[in-house]
Amino acid sequence: HLAERDGYAPLNSDFDNFYTRRLKMRINDCFARPITGVPGRYITLLDRTSDDGNYTFKLTGTTTETLNMSSYNYLGFAQSDGPCADASEQAIRKYGISMASPRADAGTSELTLEVEDLIAQFVGKPASMVFSMGFVTNATVFPTLVGKGCLLISDELNHSSIRFGSRLCGSMIRMFKHNDMRDLERILREAISQGQPRTHRPWKKIMVVVEGLYSMEGTMCNLPALVELKKKYKYNLFIDEAHSIGAVGPRGRGVCDFFGIDPSEVDVLMGTLTKSFGANGGYLAADKEVIQAMKTQNAAMLFAETPTPPVLVQIASALRIINGDLVPGQGEERLQRLIFNSRYLRLGLKRLGFIVYGHDDSPIIPVMLYNPAKMPAFSHEMLKRKISVVVVGYPATPLVSSRARFCISAAHNKDDLDRMLAACDEVGDLLQLKFSSGVAGGA
Ligand code: PMP
Repeated sequence: HLAERDGYAPLNSDFDNFYTRRLKMRINDCFARPITGVPGRYITLLDRTSDDGNYTFKLTGTTTETLNMSSYNYLGFAQSDGPCADASEQAIRKYGISMASPRADAGTSELTLEVEDLIAQFVGKPASMVFSMGFVTNATVFPTLVGKGCLLISDELNHSSIRFGSRLCGSMIRMFKHNDMRDLERILREAISQGQPRTHRPWKKIMVVVEGLYSMEGTMCNLPALVELKKKYKYNLFIDEAHSIGAVGPRGRGVCDFFGIDPSEVDVLMGTLTKSFGANGGYLAADKEVIQAMKTQNAAMLFAETPTPPVLVQIASALRIINGDLVPGQGEERLQRLIFNSRYLRLGLKRLGFIVYGHDDSPIIPVMLYNPAKMPAFSHEMLKRKISVVVVGYPATPLVSSRARFCISAAHNKDDLDRMLAACDEVGDLLQLKFSSGVAGGA
């Protein structure tokens, strides 16, 4: 109305109003629930109400402790207790809270270099570079890797940070159907035959970008097939391991570890330190020349803050625990608990008759709700049973593929998962979410 009256478009005139129609109030209170304390095995919500049925909430002053199935706390490091917390606390006293400078100025400390060595060693690449956020990593690295005259081929379900960053590099971008290696090969074949009868390849470089473990689907990339195609079509392979690093593979070293493939087969391994390591930040691991170029050209290196000292120390402690260097056996135990918990909950949900997406060994477990109206209903019913879950819908998924997404942690125990299954059983009946007759056998 304002636009008509005053001849200009007010800020909210073109906001997407899907969530501001009938679902408005009920769906908004499923998201961005404020918490207090550590987002570990349990998470404590600050209770809130809305007087006007709008986006504004008021805290009531009370709290609710819930079983946490929503945080990416795969290995239980969010708790940051024991040796991790002690070391981070000491780092604050010795180094302060902030580097107060971009990497290229005075923001590279001995801790930064130590963590970069540890990460490179962990993922099996010659060198690595850390960034203050996983999002910033993907948002800023592509212009150094590829540029004008290059072709970037991206899985259609790649994370928004990859979409965001890859648009800045000036390459031609093509997308292939999620995890569909035939579709990828079709695009590669088309791309390479383009420009015929020229005898040389029409692209300076071709880079294929995938995720190790997809956060909305729980699917794992088909690394063996990607490596085979790479030999045939000679492209560079970039894998975002935000959800797979620390979470999959017998030693927690991501998809290469999982498939038994040498990391030298992959050109660039990217990951976040937010999830399995209970810290903050992102990394890029590759050959020394690539990391060297990144350190001289990358915008975040030149203009943005680096991970802070306590965060760097948390990353180092978590890595040493996973490797078994700090507390013998504890890393292995965390990894084993994570895999047991993931399989146990997934199989239990399937037996109840839920449609569950993703790989059997994925700690991300998407449970299909389909109808978007069931998102708030599911979230509220689980909250009544003192369980926090994430519900996901449009625009993160197609409108009729709404889902709940459970994140498994090594911090959960079998009682937690049985409680979760009992709650899902009740809520599944209530909301008619059991679409299959259940499976008796393997997950
Ligand atoms: N890549 C993927 C695949 C992600 O899922 C995420 C965050 N969930 C990121 C990058 C960004 O990482 P961060 O949250 O550490 O900024």
